[in-house]
Amino acid sequence: MKNIVVLGSTGSIGKNTLEVARNLKDTFQVVGLSSNSRWELLAEQVEEFKPRYVALTDSGLAEKLKQRFHGSQTKILTGNHCLQEIVVKPEVDIVVSAVVGAVGLPAAIATIEQGKTLALANKESLVMAGHLVMPLAKKNQILPVDSEHSAIFQSLHSGKPCEVKRVIITASGGPFCDYPADKLSEVKPAQALKHPTWQMGQKITIDSATLMNKALEIIEAKWLFDLTAEQIDVVIHPQSIIHSMVEFCDGSVIAQMGLPDMKVPIQYALTYPERSPLDVRWFDLPALGNLTFRKPDVEKFPALRLGYHAAREGGTTGATLNAANEVAVQAFLDGQIRFTEIASHVEKVINHHHFIKNPCLEEILAADAWARQEMKKCLI
Ligand code: NDP
Ligand code: MG
Repeated sequence: MKNIVVLGSTGSIGKNTLEVARNLKDTFQVVGLSSNSRWELLAEQVEEFKPRYVALTDSGLAEKLKQRFHGSQTKILTGNHCLQEIVVKPEVDIVVSAVVGAVGLPAAIATIEQGKTLALANKESLVMAGHLVMPLAKKNQILPVDSEHSAIFQSLHSGKPCEVKRVIITASGGPFCDYPADKLSEVKPAQALKHPTWQMGQKITIDSATLMNKALEIIEAKWLFDLTAEQIDVVIHPQSIIHSMVEFCDGSVIAQMGLPDMKVPIQYALTYPERSPLDVRWFDLPALGNLTFRKPDVEKFPALRLGYHAAREGGTTGATLNAANEVAVQAFLDGQIRFTEIASHVEKVINHHHFIKNPCLEEILAADAWARQEMKKCLI
């Protein structure tokens, strides 16, 4: 039996993780859950899984939860450090980090420092501080949940690290892949929130529409698999069937495929190095028909260029890009800026940030705070 904590259990990845845990009851016990605001859904999850610990960042809502579970065995934690408090509990074996945004970084570091396995969906942790997180981790202590990185991780089993030529990350292209470039500035949040192949939380859905998600994934891949920016290619593959590929030095290209379903990479991260049965739809190639590929349009989606820039630069650039983007995405959802301004404002913030080559955690957090302030100035 493995004891798991799900940070961000009320989100899209969190709910899928609980479905995996529900199907593998004899293998996994859920000992911790967390959310930010959706306390009623969290309460339902507590009723079902009866975890020992629950973290709810909003202290007012945590009071309601405490009243509801008064006298039960579940301990309710709250406040700024509640995610870290929960992951360091001695009985925890695996932490699934499925919170959205920079808030995931301290908990990711605490998980690794305590020697626990980190099943990582929260790519922001690596985008911000991959240079600090990766050296703390032992081999395979961080297991990717992001579907592209799970695909690369699985494909890498076919060779040695020194035999890898490059990785090819696939991208669905998002809802605006075929949309006229000159009309992109007019698109509304409701259009951008309609992803063609994946059901995800709001922030990553907007990131997929701008291709900022791919930018973050380039940086995530660089750190996870110790690659240079030049070894990472992105290809548009609208069907989202090939989740990514690895090209080896002898020209062999190994791909991982499957119907788009996040339960597959989540379960693999939890059961690794084993595989367990999962009830997925039949993989019907004739019904799928064609798998197509094309080059991404970097002029139309400049976020991609920013991802390569941040992967090359390292230092504080990833944290700056991530924080500026988080604020910009929210501003777009709130109707404060245009769709195309997300990337252009992020670029402005990156271009005049104070670059530090080897930042410590405090410097990373300071770059994050500065970028948020700076982006807010762009909104006035
Ligand atoms: P959701 O928005 O659906 O869920 C986010 C979760 O984080 C919720 O449980 C939310 O709580 C919690 N949360 C939000 N803000 C805070 C905060 N300030 N403090 C603590 N908890 C917080 O996101 P997704 O599940 O889509 O994505 C989660 C992560 O996984 C992201 O990093 C994303 O990039 C990554 N990812 C997602 C994929 C997907 O298919 N969805 C695929 C690959 C990666 P509450 O519900 O209470 O607001
Ligand atoms: Mg992904």
